[in-house]
Parts: sequence; C-alpha cells; structure tokens
Amino acid sequence: MATPAHNANGHRRRELTKRVKAEETHCALCDKPVDKTLTYTSGEHGPKCSRLDCKGCIPHPMRGEVDEDLPRSRGGSPYDRKNCRLMHRDCNNWKGKRTIAEARAKLHGETLAPLPKPRPLGSY
Ligand SMILES: [Zn+2]
Ligand SMILES: [Zn+2]
Repeated sequence: MATPAHNANGHRRRELTKRVKAEETHCALCDKPVDKTLTYTSGEHGPKCSRLDCKGCIPHPMRGEVDEDLPRSRGGSPYDRKNCRLMHRDCNNWKGKRTIAEARAKLHGETLAPLPKPRPLGSY
C-alpha cells in the first residue's frame, strides 16, 4: 500500500483529531458531554463500524467530531490544536461556517427558553 505525499497532512490531521478527542470531554457548542463510544446508528456494518466516513453506515448524530473553531474557509487552521474543538456531529453540522462564539450566540439567542431549565439534583 503506497502512502502518497499528499496524505501527510491527513496524517497530521488524524493525530490532532485523536489528541482533541482524548483531551476534551464536552461539546464546545452545547456544553453537554460527548459519548465517545458512539459511532454509527445503523447501516451495513452497524455500531461497530470503525470506518471514518463510511458510506454504508449512518453516523450517530451525537457522536463526537473534531472541527475548527474558525473554519478553514475563513482562514482557520485544521492543524492548530487551539483552533480545533470537540463537538457533537449535529452541533458541528449546525455550526456550519460560524465560529464557536458566533454559533453559541445564535444558539442562545434562538433557543433561550422562557422557563429556566430544571437543574439536576446536586448541581448547586
Ligand atoms: Zn453539542
Ligand atoms: Zn460502515
């Protein structure tokens, strides 16, 4: 199996992705914990499928994914640890081309509930 030169950056990105997933536990957007065991909901290979971006399986919407705070299209580096954060797949999709700060502002502006959320016991 050959390793073309243009894959060098892919390797760098994979190493950083691994590091972010190891270091972060909560979604940078919604602040909820990320279940790192989630991969796919269903499909050809089932939840055990370990292929990244497998075409035959449906990614779990709450699985953890690593994305740039400042998107690549806006000059953000996909190799800078400080620019890469752990997020739920759904949150990441929703974030789109926004920065995390922009997405959070929009998130809180749009979904601010009229009633305060009940806090779990023991959180005071
Ligand atoms: Zn989230
Ligand atoms: Zn699969």
